[in-house]
Amino acid sequence: MSAPVHHAPRISATRSISLLGATGSIGKSTLEVIALHPQYSVFALTANSNVALMLEQCLRFAPRFAVMVDESAAEELTRALVRHGSATCVLAGPQGLIEVASHPEVDTVMAAIVGAAGLPSALAAVQHSKKVLLANKEALVMAGDLFMDALAQSQAVLLPIDSEHNAVFQCLPQHSRATADGLPALGVRRILLTASGGPFREWPLEHLHAVTPEQACKHPNWSMGRKISVDSASMMNKGLEVIEACFLFGVGPELVDVLIHPQSIVHSMVEYTDGSVLAQMGSPDMRIPIAHCLAWPQRIASGAAFLDLTRQGALQFHAPDLERFPCLRLGIEAARAGGTAPTILNAANEVAVEAFLRGESGFTAIPAIIEQTLAQMTCGKAESVDMIRQVDEQARTLARRLIQRR
Ligand code: NAD
Ligand code: MG
Repeated sequence: MSAPVHHAPRISATRSISLLGATGSIGKSTLEVIALHPQYSVFALTANSNVALMLEQCLRFAPRFAVMVDESAAEELTRALVRHGSATCVLAGPQGLIEVASHPEVDTVMAAIVGAAGLPSALAAVQHSKKVLLANKEALVMAGDLFMDALAQSQAVLLPIDSEHNAVFQCLPQHSRATADGLPALGVRRILLTASGGPFREWPLEHLHAVTPEQACKHPNWSMGRKISVDSASMMNKGLEVIEACFLFGVGPELVDVLIHPQSIVHSMVEYTDGSVLAQMGSPDMRIPIAHCLAWPQRIASGAAFLDLTRQGALQFHAPDLERFPCLRLGIEAARAGGTAPTILNAANEVAVEAFLRGESGFTAIPAIIEQTLAQMTCGKAESVDMIRQVDEQARTLARRLIQRR
């Protein structure tokens, strides 16, 4: 895995932002933070098909462009904006995502589309040397080597929105972003990713097969989109995050440990060779990492509640149970295997989670489908984006077939 290369930030008075995935959980939180700070202006908002919310956001933030990936949603939005006398220009289809992610007038791109659909636009933002705020972890999981190579060849700055990686980033020395020697040379012994353990941390194992989408989407600490909520319940989210950490920080999975921390107050930690452990803490509210990345290397208000440790109560930590959470084991194994193993893992997971959310497949089928898909495909080196796309498609086809056969 390539070492991360970061460049000095370009700080301008006004920041022009393209917000990819504006109608999602991260998108809405990002707009809440932006609304507090007039120095940020919204250049573009994008969504898949939610016309009603996109209309509301366009009327409030007056972006130059609104992208709807769904063509009929784009037509509907155009008509509605004209009716309201809005000057926002609507672009249709996935090409619109690339256009607003790489537009010369944009300096900051928030990549908050869910799943593999976010890869082309996030990659375009990196290739066009934007300040890239990365929430879309699947992009990095499926194409991490290529993504980090593109970063090294550009002037882009990559900042992690995922709360754990944002915490690690905050606990690393500033100059870690300029070194090619890797974190051990800076005295880093381990990265400790925390995980809440999700809603089923203490459920009897024999009840897990009957879990419903509604139960899986009810996270104890965080309010998130449905896909990442299911990933949190299965702990595939932490598996994806181990892979994400390896790429972002240029380390092997042996340097990344997972700790269950049910309170979600310590967002992650970095352990140094002298025995020091640095932790980043805060309320479980994504507006904190979003504000941190928007303003980096400065600080701005996020609107989130401040932490009152006197009222918080005990903070607990313990090792994860890999029998209860096979998806975490699969994520760690894919991180070790490298190459296209994370691409296959991610694709099979997206298919299995979609089937579960549609009621077509069970919760415990998710790890089974992923494991079988990985076993039946050959992993290789990820040579190009085209190859990643092909492997992703093959894994999806196979995973769908495996679901039908169950
Ligand atoms: P969400 O489902 O709430 O929103 C997803 C957004 O992506 C929406 O705006 C939707 O219109 C858009 N989208 C969906 N499919 C698309 C497609 N095919 N093409 C273009 N756009 C499409 O998801 P979320 O919870 O906001 O998560 C977004 C990303 O951030 C995910 O990768 C997730 O893992 C990551 N993330 C989320 C959180 C969180 O707290 N929600 C925390 C950490 C990381
Ligand atoms: Mg996270």
